[in-house]
Amino acid sequence: MDDITIQMVKLLKERTNIAKQIGELKKNSGLSINDEKREEQLRTEVSELCKQIGLDESIGKKFLNFLLNESIKVQSEGKQTHLTIFLKAKNLEQQGKRIIHMEVGEPDFMPPKIVQSALGESYDKGFVRYGPALGMPSLREALAKYSTKKFGAEVKQENILVSPGGRFSVFLAISTLLNPGDEIIVIEPAWPAYRDCATNAGVKVRTISTTLENHWNPFIPEIKQTINSNTKMIVLNYPNNPTGKILEPKIQDQVMDLAKQYDLYVLSDEIYSEYAFSMWKSVLTNNYKKSITIQSFSKSHAMTGLRIGYTIADKSIIEKMVRLQALCITNVAEPIQYAALKALDADITQNPKTVKSKIDVLVESAKKIGLDFIPPDGAMYLFARINKPGFDGLEFANRLLDHGVGIAPGDGFGNYKSFIRISACQDQDTLQKGMMILDEVLKGS
Ligand code: PMP
Repeated sequence: MDDITIQMVKLLKERTNIAKQIGELKKNSGLSINDEKREEQLRTEVSELCKQIGLDESIGKKFLNFLLNESIKVQSEGKQTHLTIFLKAKNLEQQGKRIIHMEVGEPDFMPPKIVQSALGESYDKGFVRYGPALGMPSLREALAKYSTKKFGAEVKQENILVSPGGRFSVFLAISTLLNPGDEIIVIEPAWPAYRDCATNAGVKVRTISTTLENHWNPFIPEIKQTINSNTKMIVLNYPNNPTGKILEPKIQDQVMDLAKQYDLYVLSDEIYSEYAFSMWKSVLTNNYKKSITIQSFSKSHAMTGLRIGYTIADKSIIEKMVRLQALCITNVAEPIQYAALKALDADITQNPKTVKSKIDVLVESAKKIGLDFIPPDGAMYLFARINKPGFDGLEFANRLLDHGVGIAPGDGFGNYKSFIRISACQDQDTLQKGMMILDEVLKGS
């Protein structure tokens, strides 16, 4: 037994060394780290071997998933993302340079005014102690009512978990509901945290790539083909970051039907639902017991810095997630929860109008510049392709930053090197100025 284990560890070392070398080659030739086709070849070989030698196929494939994730980890070291650009932008600002931030997704307007007084009031009310890990009962009750009214499905207090932002809810859902070696389906382009949380939990990401040509629609038979005995979850994010896409209800229902058929969790990140400019429906309306809906005050109420969001799910799921939340953070700070409770009563109807008018500015100037894109159905971004041979979004983002404008390279959202994401989170004049500089730098390249 010892000998076999030692041999396996030595082989792992050998495999990791080779993965590193392949990583270098990929980097030098501009290839993406993830290669679904190559992985699928290996998967088929492993399946066949398992059958031949009489090993449980599911275990064999879980082991393969572990190896594939290790390769991805070593090959991802030092990879730049839109956060790298954001940090570089902040650094330049500290040196006194003025930067137009079109790389980050953060409303530039203030939270509802009532948040200010609620924060002060929370002291007088004695919200200065530990609280229940699930969240304050008054807030959970209010969120249940708010969600029932807003999302068209009955939500009870027991279905709500208050967390410090949607990001933490995503982390909790993936870390508690999935096990190492399990698989999660992510439709790309996608917000990078799904992939990162999965990799962190030893979960294998299976990518469904969508294209501009196909209007960012996932191909249902491709999803079906990707599902196997290790597949446990599919992620939906509509309105989408970065494309702004909203799935047609019929397609969303088809995905939900597949999830039901194969007993998969559906992690539906709906934090941009306040910014839906065409027909949108929550997966809550599908009334599926294994769905986990993520909401946040970050975008809808412009409360990014207050760090508060919530999960809506079946009680059994909430119970699993809250155990990890209690372990990590005890509870969300009660003054923040109280501010969120008060914010629920505020009139935020102006927010979507403001965001839409900013997106319109981006759409207009992007058309003039001749960028290739589909006008977003929602969210706060424009995801555009630059049709120039050999265009590299990351190189361009770095160069544009030297001219005082931050944008996010498409690469951070999947295999979209020739794309950039532009955020509509500045006033209209600033957005216009940013787009003008972008045009000049693009023409100069
Ligand atoms: N989901 C998506 C799709 C996002 O774009 C973001 C933030 N950019 C989040 C979740 C996280 O939001 P927060 O943690 O601030 O609630």
